[in-house]
Amino acid sequence: MLPKYKRILLKLSGESLMGESNYGIDPKVIQQYAQDIKSVTDLGVQVAVVIGGGNIYRGMNEAETGIERAQGDYMGMLATVINGMAMQSGLEKIGLYTRLQSAIKMEQIAEPYIRRRAIRHLEKGRVVIFGAGTGNPYFTTDTAASLRAIEIQADVILKGTRVDGIYTADPEKDSSAVKYETISFSEVYQKSLNVMDMTAFTLCQENKLPIIVFDMNRPGNLLHVIMGRNVGTLVQA
Ligand code: UDP
Repeated sequence: MLPKYKRILLKLSGESLMGESNYGIDPKVIQQYAQDIKSVTDLGVQVAVVIGGGNIYRGMNEAETGIERAQGDYMGMLATVINGMAMQSGLEKIGLYTRLQSAIKMEQIAEPYIRRRAIRHLEKGRVVIFGAGTGNPYFTTDTAASLRAIEIQADVILKGTRVDGIYTADPEKDSSAVKYETISFSEVYQKSLNVMDMTAFTLCQENKLPIIVFDMNRPGNLLHVIMGRNVGTLVQA
């Protein structure tokens, strides 16, 4: 069986990197994600990664932090670079080649984001990690993931979450919630289901980029998704 997708953009939330703790980066989570990514690059799948920063800093809580929104957002973007560096190390430890590209210039630790260069790295089999979100405050890493996925012409955006797909209601609150196997963009809108923030979601819809929401914390799931097995929920036009 051949992989269903050739080039993917994997969005990992910063929060998931915390694992069992309530702050920072759990090395076990990094190891698991790295192994899962290797399982698909071994098949020749090209992998780009966008990581959030919520485990370290989120810029949106001006009222709580006393730090103005834009300033906090830049802090959040820096947090994603820290996570990206951790992920880079985890991947290199198991023999993968990687490049970290940052939307905010920091040349000592990351290449600047250059679209054509990112594509070249992918073609050479390197895992490309996009850090610093979009480089702009008032955006999210989901939006960065959608934007980069479209730019590099990924076949699909894979959103790794704690739940294994999109449900009719929040499965952590409502036990009668049922999971969708596939759902259309317009149905997600109509039912006000929470997949990504609107900016990110609209970018995917307008550019007909399918999204798969799945549980990245279950080892092996990424491979299942790549092979087109029935894991998570597929959002498509
Ligand atoms: N952020 C931003 N612009 C971007 C991406 C991220 O300003 O393009 C900031 C924003 O403050 C956000 C923080 O970085 O709260 C961390 O990203 P996010 O909350 O999306 O991470 P996740 O929820 O995936 O951990």
